[in-house]
Amino acid sequence: MKTTILLLLISLTINAQKEDIKFAVTNTVTSGVITGVGAMVNKKKTDKRTYGKVFVNAFWKGCVGGAVCQSSKYIAQQISVRDNLLWGWPTNLVSSLGASIMENTQEGRGMFQGYNINIYGAYLCISKNGVNPRIDVLTAISYIYFPLFKNSHINILTSLKTGYPIFFSTTENPNDLGVNFGGSISVTTCNDFVHYTKIENLTISHKFKPNFNSILTHEVIHSVQFNQTNINYKNKYIRINYIFPVLYSINNVITGYNNNFYEKEAEYFQLYKSSYIIN
Ligand SMILES: [Zn+2]
Repeated sequence: MKTTILLLLISLTINAQKEDIKFAVTNTVTSGVITGVGAMVNKKKTDKRTYGKVFVNAFWKGCVGGAVCQSSKYIAQQISVRDNLLWGWPTNLVSSLGASIMENTQEGRGMFQGYNINIYGAYLCISKNGVNPRIDVLTAISYIYFPLFKNSHINILTSLKTGYPIFFSTTENPNDLGVNFGGSISVTTCNDFVHYTKIENLTISHKFKPNFNSILTHEVIHSVQFNQTNINYKNKYIRINYIFPVLYSINNVITGYNNNFYEKEAEYFQLYKSSYIIN
């Protein structure tokens, strides 16, 4: 019996590590490639290095940025594990550090020469020259998109606690418990859902109470994924990061929503504490 439990534990640990490694490697390499391409696009005429050299040099720095973002997902997980929304702030701070490393490298600066953070749609670029605020376009659109299309409204207190714009939704669609739009988050506040699951060709209805913090964790992971695919498309007044929506959509087309790499990862970091009650 002891051996069986021990073997089970070992296999569980190995499996968990396998998943962790799979997500970490894929995301880190993706960050490296995005940063490498970004650096090649921004290569100055005065830079005499070959494009290959520019890519390789930026690639490994991008990997470092991607790895920093990846580490922030374990902080995001604490929102659910410790049932405390305040873990959203360090998640945003650390994943922004990773995104800043990527962006600095793409612009040909030193890895740590500037720190950029998206706070409620204000994209603050902090450097030794001071603070340069811009509007994050996608986050700004969410303030109109959520009330108009998701029947959700901003909740100031929850937004202040987590450091992300949080909207409350009253939708009862079980497939729509949480939505992330440009780093903004909408979470349902309905307590009871009738959720249908197919088990061995029988459709069973479950009534369950979804855990608010676990849904929020899932959506914060998507916000980190935004940072992890950071590009330096910005001008004096606005910045826009369209890479994550593009990568997410490509995944949806190829594998479908349920097998989407980014959904699988968000689910992996999310911890469900909800109890299922079969009717
Ligand atoms: Zn999701």
